[in-house]
Amino acid sequence: MCLFCKIVNKEIPSNIILENDEFIAFHDINPKAPVHILAIPKLHIDSFNEIKPELMAKMSSFIQEIANEVKIDKTGYRVITNVGDNGGQEVQHLHFHILGGAKLKWGHFSDADPQGHF
Ligand code: AMP
Repeated sequence: MCLFCKIVNKEIPSNIILENDEFIAFHDINPKAPVHILAIPKLHIDSFNEIKPELMAKMSSFIQEIANEVKIDKTGYRVITNVGDNGGQEVQHLHFHILGGAKLKWGHFSDADPQGHF
C-alpha cells in the first residue's frame, strides 16, 4: 500500500485539515511555504495524468474549500501537482500542493531550458 493510501487509512498519522467521503487534506510534513497543504483523492490514482474529469471537478471544489477553510482564498495561493519523473513527483499517489500565506516567488526553473523541447 502506498504512503498516502496509508494516510487515508489512518495507518500513518497526519495533520488533517478537511476530509469527506472522497478526499482528504493534510499539512505537508516538509512545508515550503507558511501554508503548505496536500489534497488527495482517497481512491488511489497514480498522478494527475490518470484522473477522470468527473473526479477532477469535485477535486477542484475540495481545493477551493480548503483555501476558504485556511483563509488564503482572498490573499491568493498556488496549486501544484507534480507528474512523473520530469515533474519531480516523489509520491506516486495523486496530490495537489496548496501553497500560500506569503507572496510566492516564481521562476526557479533554472534547470529547464525553455528552448529545449519543441
Ligand atoms: P511530490 O514531490 O510532489 O511527490 O510531493 C510529495 C510531498 O509529500 C512532499 O512535499 C513531502 O514533503 C510530502 N510528504 C511526504 N511524506 C509525508 C507525510 N507522511 N505526511 C505529509 N506529507 C508528506
